[in-house]
Amino acid sequence: MQHWFSERVTERLLRYAVVDTQSDRSSTSRPTTPGQWDLLNIISSELQDLGITDISVLDEGFLIARIPPTNRRLEQVPAVGFMAHVDTAEDVSGRGVVPQVIKEYTGNDIPLGTSGYVLSPKEHPELLSCVGKDIITADGTTLLGADDKAGIAEIITAAEYLTARPELEHGAVELIFTTDEETGRGMDHFPVEKLRSRYCYTLDGPGRGTMEAECFNALKCDVIFTGVSYHLGNARGRMVNAVTMAASFISMLPQAESPEATDGRFGYYCPLTVTGDAEQASVTVFIRDFDRTEAVRRSEAVEQMARSVQSAFPGGAVRVETLWQYENMYDAISRDPKVLDVLKRSIASAGITPEMTSIRGGTDGARLTAMGIPAPNIFSGGFNYHSRYEWACADYMAEASRVVVETVLQWAREE
Ligand SMILES: [Zn+2]
Repeated sequence: MQHWFSERVTERLLRYAVVDTQSDRSSTSRPTTPGQWDLLNIISSELQDLGITDISVLDEGFLIARIPPTNRRLEQVPAVGFMAHVDTAEDVSGRGVVPQVIKEYTGNDIPLGTSGYVLSPKEHPELLSCVGKDIITADGTTLLGADDKAGIAEIITAAEYLTARPELEHGAVELIFTTDEETGRGMDHFPVEKLRSRYCYTLDGPGRGTMEAECFNALKCDVIFTGVSYHLGNARGRMVNAVTMAASFISMLPQAESPEATDGRFGYYCPLTVTGDAEQASVTVFIRDFDRTEAVRRSEAVEQMARSVQSAFPGGAVRVETLWQYENMYDAISRDPKVLDVLKRSIASAGITPEMTSIRGGTDGARLTAMGIPAPNIFSGGFNYHSRYEWACADYMAEASRVVVETVLQWAREE
């Protein structure tokens, strides 16, 4: 059975990886790039081929498909959703992906196509846990897109398994495919009222066997500096340079609380973009922390630093616009522990030891949880996301797909 899953998820990942679905933070269209529609349409026709008839591709950039309960008695089982995103990150190109499959990996360095880049177990020791298994990479010129096309492949393969076996008893299952997860704005327009799921699982985590019910609290501060520009020849005592103000602000951010200097449960400030000129400049700072009060403390500190800069540059002005991007889903999920209990049992019955980890980031699941549908995250078998060194293990992907099947069946057993 593992072999069947492994073949199906690999074949699907290879097919989806070549579709350029990179999202674009600067775009205002929905989804932000047209390639994302292409993959939603491919998914839609694949689901139709599996005999699934209830498929909606929504204008907001979502696909929701439903597999009905096996029989009327199972209508009482809570509907459960599985979710993955079609877009890939902006960090590395996703155009013209050329995936390669390394069969029965030997533990040696893997040349990424002819690019000169090498994926080596010396820098990426997780590779050594996959000796003898099949590994999928790109060719070094792009990312692979296993984040999150591995998740899509796993969900659809699980749907293929279930729809071909009407004797397996389960409740209603929803398959949800989203766009623009990587921009952080994809879920802004999610029509949650169209969903019947009481619980949902996002397949968007790296590695194997992990389940994640905790993510960062996330705030974004846009700090806008207004200076006074002047002819540089006569600027003495008159000009207030917004670029210098922005630089002064950035230098106040504590370097010990940056993403480069933290891991585990420590949060951070990260100045992510700087734009502008002498008259106006702006700095975008991301604030992240598992603890809500710490996240709020950091946003207050940003306000304080902004005020200090303003008083150090008479005539200049500083303004801060703060936005909550997403919240730690832990509290909401732990109020309804069954969603994790069922998952834990399902991972174990797929023969894997479940491991609870925290996401140093967010997922669409965190946004969905905030909308009232608890949505922890499941591993999807990929590594080195957002990088040209991204890779996936076919066996781990197969296991993730089996966890989806097990979870569906487990919910029916619980009733
Ligand atoms: Zn992802």
